[in-house]
Amino acid sequence: MHTYHTPLDLVRERSPERPVAFARPGAVALAARWFQENFKGDVFYAVKANPSPWVLETLAANGVRSFDVASLPEVELVSQLVPGARMAFMHPVKSRRAISAAYFDHGVRTFALDTHEELAKILDATGQATDLNLIVRLGVAAEGAAYSLAGKFGVDAFEAPELLLAARRATNELMGVSFHVGSQCMRPTAFQAAMTQASRALVRAGVFADVVDVGGGFPSIYPGMIPPSLSDYIASIDRGFSEMMVHETTELWCEPGRALVAESSSVLTTVELRKGDALYLNDGSYGSLFDATHTKWPFPVKLIRREADGATREVEGPLKPYRFYGPTCDSLDHMPGPFWLPEDVREGDYVEIGMLGAYGVAMNTRFNGFGDTETVVVNDPPMASLFGLAPRSIPLPRPESQNVVKLSRARGKKRRRR
Ligand SMILES: *Cc1c(COP(=O)(O)O)cnc(C)c1O
Repeated sequence: MHTYHTPLDLVRERSPERPVAFARPGAVALAARWFQENFKGDVFYAVKANPSPWVLETLAANGVRSFDVASLPEVELVSQLVPGARMAFMHPVKSRRAISAAYFDHGVRTFALDTHEELAKILDATGQATDLNLIVRLGVAAEGAAYSLAGKFGVDAFEAPELLLAARRATNELMGVSFHVGSQCMRPTAFQAAMTQASRALVRAGVFADVVDVGGGFPSIYPGMIPPSLSDYIASIDRGFSEMMVHETTELWCEPGRALVAESSSVLTTVELRKGDALYLNDGSYGSLFDATHTKWPFPVKLIRREADGATREVEGPLKPYRFYGPTCDSLDHMPGPFWLPEDVREGDYVEIGMLGAYGVAMNTRFNGFGDTETVVVNDPPMASLFGLAPRSIPLPRPESQNVVKLSRARGKKRRRR
């Protein structure tokens, strides 16, 4: 991958026509080391958040060599890029072929399940293997999560004890519990609460867990979503673990996706047309901005302009709210925002959309001929950081001031977004 010092340098040298994803391997390395140093157990990276080779390789080089995978292609990708990696197949519903190939061809021994049927399927597809680590996914309340993952997976409290017992009897190796408190969990105590629920199920089943997997859900920073410090999450997990009925050798695992990678990437898009407060960009909901459409996720933005003489700069000044449209012909390809940018945005300007390392490029499709995104490495800091690389916040223009432009003019000073 080509390296540019900053996104401005890329725009100055190349005026790219297609969307460009910026990779900041240093941000992944820092987050990986933070989790290694602070989480008192094994850190499995949830590959779905961003399966880019540079991400997996940077994590592995910085000590994260365990991966939460959910499909055979993810198993194959990790096998290829990180030889010797430890993989946990944490999707509670898998095809027989995926289970067999993972077990026999790639050495995967850890499988999640949330039904008796899936347990039988795993045993069957591995030839009644006795060396499996079986992790029972529990349904837990998703308190405090910006994006709930409750509902689709997880055995409920009533049926959990019987399934835990069945899993315990099915293996001579590790039997564990897992859950997911929901993505971008804004409340650290959600982890401790979920561990209390897990503990109750284990006590009712009369079994000990060899693994307590607290899942993902660790947050990143977005406009209007400034989470507590990540240390508070670790403290909540430590308290939860100390209160659980476990034995001395019980392992603690986590599966962060978002928190490890969100800061590390942003996407550069081009303004193809402006219609009032609507900006038509060359990337959208079928590209890296799925979440901006489907969950109205707020992302921070910056405006970059290259003048005819080549002079390139970040444009600042009074901000106004915009909405975005993506490049496809689908009217669903719309991102309501509001995204706050200077008032004089014009065709040919570039909009850098920040904090897109998780669930950004990972969501790219080829619909309508778009989605061809190049990746380059940059050395500038992310727009915000929980790991000390940048401010721990993204100021949001106050919602009641629809007239931020007027206000800031009256005060005669410029407002900046970040
Ligand atoms: C998506 C997912 C994760 C990662 O979640 P984040 O909110 O990105 O940390 C972890 N575990 C499982 C089982 C998942 O499905």
